[in-house]
Amino acid sequence: MIHHRKAIGSGAIEVVCGPMFSGKTEELIRRLRLAKIAKQKVQIFKPAVDNRYETECITSHTEQKFACTPIREPKEILEQLIDNTRVIGIDEVQFFSEELVEVCEKLANRGLRVIVAGLDQDYLGQPFGPMPQLLAIADDAAKLKAVCMVCGGEATKSQRLTRETDQVVVGAEKHYEARCRSCFDPELEMSGLKMEAKVTQEGEWKASGGTASK
Ligand code: ADP
Ligand code: MG
Ligand code: ZN
Repeated sequence: MIHHRKAIGSGAIEVVCGPMFSGKTEELIRRLRLAKIAKQKVQIFKPAVDNRYETECITSHTEQKFACTPIREPKEILEQLIDNTRVIGIDEVQFFSEELVEVCEKLANRGLRVIVAGLDQDYLGQPFGPMPQLLAIADDAAKLKAVCMVCGGEATKSQRLTRETDQVVVGAEKHYEARCRSCFDPELEMSGLKMEAKVTQEGEWKASGGTASK
C-alpha cells in the first residue's frame, strides 16, 4: 500500500481512453504540448511492443508526433525519471502489466502529473490490461468516442476484422475499425466472410472491407 504524503505541486493521474481511432494519442499530445508551453518538463513513454511507425515517437493516426522513450516494464519509468520532470505521458498503456498502476500512483504522490492513454477494451469488448485499475484510481478520466464505420454513430468499441484470437495483435491497424455497441460484432458473425455471404444473398447490401452501406 502506498502512503499518501504531502506532495510538492499537485500530483494527479489523468486517464484518456476509448476505442481505436478515438483520438487518444491526439489528446495526449495536445495535453503534453500545453504542458511544454507552460514550460513544464515533460517525459513520454510507451511500451516497446508497440513498434508501429517510429520507435522513438508516439504517433497518432493523423501522423502527429512526440518524441518518447520505449520501455518494456513500468518500473523503467521510475529508473529513467529526470529530477525536474513535472509531467509524465504514457501511451498505449493497455499493453503494460498491472505494475503500471503502482508506478503511476507513486509518481502522482510525488507531485507529478501523470497522463495515461490507451484502449479501455480489447477486441472482445473486455477490460484491457491495467486500464480498469487506472480508471478507478484516476483523478480525472475521459472516454473518447470514434465514428462507427458501419452506421456513422458514436463508436466505443474496437472491431477486429480478422479471426486472430490473441489479445494483442499490433501493427495491424487495417485489421480493426471503430464501431458502436449495436454494430460491434466480437464473434465476427456478421462481419468478414459471413457478412460477405449474407451480402451476396440479400443482394441489396454492398460489402467493402466488412462495411455495409445501403
Ligand atoms: P487513437 O490514439 O485513439 O487510436 P489517434 O489520435 O491516433 O487515435 O487518431 C485519431 C484520428 O484518427 C482522428 O482525429 C481522425 O482523423 C482519424 N480517424 C480515422 N478513423 C476514424 C474513426 N472511425 N473515427 C474517428 N476518427 C478517425
Ligand atoms: Mg493511439
Ligand atoms: Zn454503428
